[in-house]
Amino acid sequence: MHERSLVLNLLRRVTELTVERGPGRVTEIDVEVGDFAGIEVDLFASAFAQETSEAPWCRPTLQIRRVKLRAECVDCGPVELTGMRFVCPTCGSTELEICGGDDVRLLSFTWATASEELS
Ligand SMILES: [Zn+2]
Repeated sequence: MHERSLVLNLLRRVTELTVERGPGRVTEIDVEVGDFAGIEVDLFASAFAQETSEAPWCRPTLQIRRVKLRAECVDCGPVELTGMRFVCPTCGSTELEICGGDDVRLLSFTWATASEELS
């Protein structure tokens, strides 16, 4: 399942970022899901719940932000695209470089150290 492999990638990334932090755990993970990422948010959330139900994750909260496709127009700079047309909404140019909204990105996560968890 596509969503499950994206969840596993996400968790692997978070693990890499927390590996040197000592005892503690991730309590919340914030991700951006693009309209063009081609995933079902519900499936993504349920795969996330499944993969994080056991140690060391203990079910962190998942925050999902939906974003539109973003591109950089050679003339206008950053623009947001709507619909299925890869055309600049301001000048009509097709010289666009997609720079977001077509994938799942880790935005941030919350880390609680073991001592914070006890207090
Ligand atoms: Zn433009």
